[in-house]
Formats: sequence, structure tokens, C-alpha cells
Amino acid sequence: MGKLRTIKDLGKLKGKKVLLRVDLNVPMQDGTVVDHSRILGIKETVAHLKSAGATIILMSHFGRPEGQPVIGLSLSQIVPALEQGLGAKVTFAGDALAKETKTKIKNSKDICLLENLRFHPGEEANDADFAKKLSILGDVYINDAFSSSHRAHVSTVGITHHLPSAAGLGLVKEIEALTTALENPRHPVAAVIGGAKISTKISVLQNLIVKMDHILIGGGMANTFLAAQGKKIGASLNEPDLESVAITIMENAVAANCKIHLPDEVSVAKHFNATDKAIGLPLDAVEDDDMILDIGPKASEGFIKVLRRCKTVLWNGPLGAFEIKPFDRGTNQVAEAVGNFTKKGKMISVAGGGDTVAALYHANAKGNFTYVSTAGGAFLEWLEGKTLPGIAALML
Ligand code: AMP
Repeated sequence: MGKLRTIKDLGKLKGKKVLLRVDLNVPMQDGTVVDHSRILGIKETVAHLKSAGATIILMSHFGRPEGQPVIGLSLSQIVPALEQGLGAKVTFAGDALAKETKTKIKNSKDICLLENLRFHPGEEANDADFAKKLSILGDVYINDAFSSSHRAHVSTVGITHHLPSAAGLGLVKEIEALTTALENPRHPVAAVIGGAKISTKISVLQNLIVKMDHILIGGGMANTFLAAQGKKIGASLNEPDLESVAITIMENAVAANCKIHLPDEVSVAKHFNATDKAIGLPLDAVEDDDMILDIGPKASEGFIKVLRRCKTVLWNGPLGAFEIKPFDRGTNQVAEAVGNFTKKGKMISVAGGGDTVAALYHANAKGNFTYVSTAGGAFLEWLEGKTLPGIAALML
């Protein structure tokens, strides 16, 4: 990877208008932001720009309005959470192309926030005309939204053709953390990969087997690997048409000297209500109507034994259906152990993905990890080894 342009490369920012791309696509319930991580993630850049004397114009997408205004998807509803998280006043400046927006920005001494950029079809189409019109609002552009950088949209790519551009402090930190774990890790390095399906993570696994010493697979996706090995998985979530892919991945892993670890003991239920559960069953005891919903306690211990020897751990995806107790147990146990090893300075741990963040939070382990990325799709594409267009646009 080349070198990223950073804020320093933009020179003096005093009196300059900075168009700052952030990710305010935050989870909400009943009109209230329920996870403030993305807001807190931009705090450092905002504080830096404020003390540099710049005018800050925040811009983001929110949900999927598909190119037209949708009242329920207005970014105006994020203003209270934003003010609270940033500890500063925020003026909602309205639509990027509205005549009065420019004046509002000019007259405001606060941080300004533009309306949801995806209200314009040009945003997602990376339309050159929209890029030009948007760029008129600022003197320079900064991207602090890693989680949106896998999309070649106007606010991540198109705009960089019109303004001096750089990565924000949060973006630089995120890329450094991910690079440390994926490209430049201290060995032994392991990846913990879980989640529902193997289909969404084939390219991730293919990229990881050449970089990792160990891959520990749990979650629904482990079932396809187990079935491919002829093991009993009962009525579990499975993708039979991908069993051959699972075999290829296991063969390639052997050739790449990467050890794949699968659970040999599991927790099951016949229904999701979990009243008929069985914790810690050897695979050959799995019955035809059993659903594997978690790795078993002994399998967790086995995973922890491998991870204890590692100096770097990368994590994506829960190891079981963690939303339903007691099938959060495997994820909790392994996450707690990785968190503790990290806290003791024995390893660097980097995790990412929407469900992963929720699972680590649930396990009370999030705070102990070295770095937890809130990016979903962008994190997966990074793990796949892809160059993210929003990052490529910021290279020197
Ligand atoms: P993903 O978005 O692919 O990371 O998948 C996350 C989802 O996988 C979570 O909602 C989990 O409940 C689900 N999951 C994990 N393990 C299992 C399993 N063994 N059976 C069914 N669903 C699972």
C-alpha cells in the first residue's frame, strides 16, 4: 500500500472550510441513537480541526433513501447525539445543494451538518456534476469514515477530484490497526471467524489462509466445514452447495501452512426457544433434528488454548447465535479470554463487523480489545485483501 495523505499534507487550516466525511449511519431505536461508537470515533479529528481554526462541515449518508428525500432518514435527528458526543454545538445546515445552505454555513460559528447525502441520486452514482457542486461548499476535504470507504461514491471518491484531500485522524488509526493485524502481524497470528454463513466469507477465508498461522472457525459457517468432513450436523444452518468450497479452503490452508480449527464439541437445541437445549455435545451425538447454535465449552477451551500462544488475533463474526442465551457462551468465553490476554499485554487484538461489535459488547470484552472497528462491509473487504476506493483516493 502507498502512503496516505494526512491532515498535515493539507497545510494550514485556519479559516478554511473543511468538508469532513464521517459515518453517521448510526443504529437508532425509537428516535434515539443506541450506539455512539461512530460519533465518538470522529471526536479526535473534530477537536483537531477546531483547534486548528477550521470551519467544520460534517457530511454523511444515513440509511437507504435511494436518491430521494425521506423524512425518516434525515440527519437532523442525529444532531442531539452528535452535540452530546462531540461536546459542541452543531448547526443543521440542510441540503448540500440548497441555496441557503452556503449562507447558513457562512453565518454559523458551530460545527455544521449537511443533510443525508443519499437524498441525491448523484451521491451513490459518483456523479461528476454532484461532486463539483458539493465541493463548492468547502476548501479542503477530509475522510474520517473507514466504514463508508468501500463505496466509490461522491463523498468518498468523486469529491477528491475537486478539493485537496486527506485522511482524518480516526481513519489513519483504523488503517494502522487493521494493517498491523493483517499485513504486518507479530506471529503466531490467528483469525477467529464466525457468523451465519460461509457464502459471505469465502474471499475472506481465501485471503486469510495465506496470512494467518491459525484460523478458528465457529458460528453457523463452521457447519458447512463439518458437513464437508462427513461430520453429523443434524438440522443446523448449512450451505451444502459450498461444501466443495470448504474442502478447497481446507486443502489450500494445508498448502499455506495455516491450521484450521473447527469445533469438535457443540451446543444444540431442537428449537430456537432453547428449552430443549444440550450444552457440550460431541459431534457424533448430534441428532438429526438438532441445530448447532454454539461451539461447546470444551471447544471454547480448545480455541482459547490456541489463542493463548498467539501474539496477534483478528476477529470477525460471533461463534454462535449469541443473541439467544445460552448460545452466547462460546463467544463470551473466547472473547473474554482474548480481552484478558490483550489487557495483560500478551497480544494485539483487532475485531470488526457489525455483529462482532455487538457480540463483543455483549461479552463485556469490547473495551479490552486493542482496536474494534465499527465497519461492516468495509472491514470484510479489507479482510478480503481488496483496495477500498475511498482509501485509494487518498493515496499520495
Ligand atoms: P454474520 O453477519 O455473518 O457475521 O452473522 C452473524 C449472525 O450469525 C448472528 O446473528 C448469529 O446469531 C448468527 N449465528 C452464529 N452462529 C450461528 C449458528 N450456529 N446457527 C445459526 N445462526 C448463527
